[in-house]
Amino acid sequence: MQSIPHYVGGQSVHATGVSPVYNPATGEVTAQVPVPDIAFIDEVVTRAREAARSWGVSTLSVRTNILFTFRQLLVEHADELAQLITNEHGKTLADAHGELARGLENVEYACGLTEHLKGGFSSQVADGVDVYSLREPVGVVAAITPFNFPAMVPLWMSANALATGNVVILKPSERDPSTAVRLGELLTEAGLPDGVFNVLHGDASTVNALLEHDGIDAISFVGSTPVARHVYQTGIAHGKRVQALGGAKNHMVVLPDADLDIAADAAVNAGYGAAGERCMAISVVVTVGDIADPLIEKITERIDRLTVGPGSDPSSDFGPVITKEHRDRIINYVQTAPADGITVVRDGTSLVDNPGFFVGPCLLDGVHPGAKSYDDEIFGPVLGIARVDTYAEAVTLINANPYGNGTAIFTRDGNAARLFSREVTVGMIGINVPIPVPVSSYSFGGWKNSLFGHAHIYGPEGFGFYTRAKVITSRWPQPSESQIDLGFPKTR
Ligand code: NAD
Repeated sequence: MQSIPHYVGGQSVHATGVSPVYNPATGEVTAQVPVPDIAFIDEVVTRAREAARSWGVSTLSVRTNILFTFRQLLVEHADELAQLITNEHGKTLADAHGELARGLENVEYACGLTEHLKGGFSSQVADGVDVYSLREPVGVVAAITPFNFPAMVPLWMSANALATGNVVILKPSERDPSTAVRLGELLTEAGLPDGVFNVLHGDASTVNALLEHDGIDAISFVGSTPVARHVYQTGIAHGKRVQALGGAKNHMVVLPDADLDIAADAAVNAGYGAAGERCMAISVVVTVGDIADPLIEKITERIDRLTVGPGSDPSSDFGPVITKEHRDRIINYVQTAPADGITVVRDGTSLVDNPGFFVGPCLLDGVHPGAKSYDDEIFGPVLGIARVDTYAEAVTLINANPYGNGTAIFTRDGNAARLFSREVTVGMIGINVPIPVPVSSYSFGGWKNSLFGHAHIYGPEGFGFYTRAKVITSRWPQPSESQIDLGFPKTR
């Protein structure tokens, strides 16, 4: 059985694999991934700190050139990377290409590092005194990533952390760890010095060791809310800078004036794409007024045309979910929904006889707070309909939800859309856009239980998170200006 190597110091480091990696479309174990002991983790961190000394003072042009070459290599190897993602994650090849394209955007943003790292300069703030600011790398960054975007989320973090002069230790999800290793190899091929980007596999024990390790300066985490909260609290308690992005329950409001065909398309695309395993997936459609029945009819027409199958089959609209346990959990939400007064309009749970981890599209009508299928992040192809009478009730529902990652409104009323964008307590908002993932020149982040720590990820806030500011106040006095003055420095 193939064991997936760590990637440390610019080389594959083989170790015995213990945690199984599946092909979710067949249910077969395809590889094992190692879980390192503390001695190996120590060694990786020590070597990362050594690499940080020279990378942290590398010139901006060296870093830019490497990132440009890396970008080109990602383009050239896109088919191979997409195949790796599909094999271990299960998403369709088209969707894997989509995540690569969004990851690539972040490399392109990072290529502009000379612009993004510019400091400020103020001349003559006091007589003969100038002030300037600069940003220095934080040091060694642990990047801890979830299973659902094995390329994009590592690229969100790594591109910006490397551009700002940091060394990265990436701990990818143990469910689909191969893409991370290939990214490491491509970075080495692009000219990145050995040891500046490392892949350390493992599970919760590896994460916990990194959170407590003195040699780690900053933690970028993306994953589920309970783990994000734990990562944030533990990392902060150990004196680290932490950004921890968590789970989501994203609502899409449809106002009575909306084009129902466009709204139905959006709900199906954003609800069932990638089998609902996206943190920006729409999981609740909030219908305002009396449009629920006609909208459900349009959604079911579309659902009934969807094909569920292996991600490598071009006719599949979406593939399997990540594990058998996750599939069973999703099925349980659907089967227990009627006990909460919810109607199962479409039940896709009958694919269980397949050895792959498939769940077909499910549609629940009448989801509401207090019902498990509404309160929990299901992270599967399950869309809920919540019926409300007024716009105000829709906003109240969203703002009462403990998550605040993304939300969307569908309407032809610009004023209502603008009001909505101001009133909801959510970090990313779409107006007639169901999955409002910001482009790489903005930053990505939710509110409430969807983000612990203040810094959103990538873009300008990413550059801020991975750097420490210095402000230098300078004066070049003439010898004749010598004087003793014990007063506090003044500018006037
Ligand atoms: P997860 O929280 O189970 O795992 C994420 C990472 O944490 C993995 O590397 C895993 O090895 C590690 N981990 C797991 N349990 C741990 C523990 N108890 N202690 C320490 N480390 C632990 O998440 P997942 O199932 O891989 O990913 C899906 C989740 O990620 C969903 O909740 C989804 O909404 C969320 N997500 C959020 C965003 C975002 O930007 N907010 C993006 C993608 C995914």
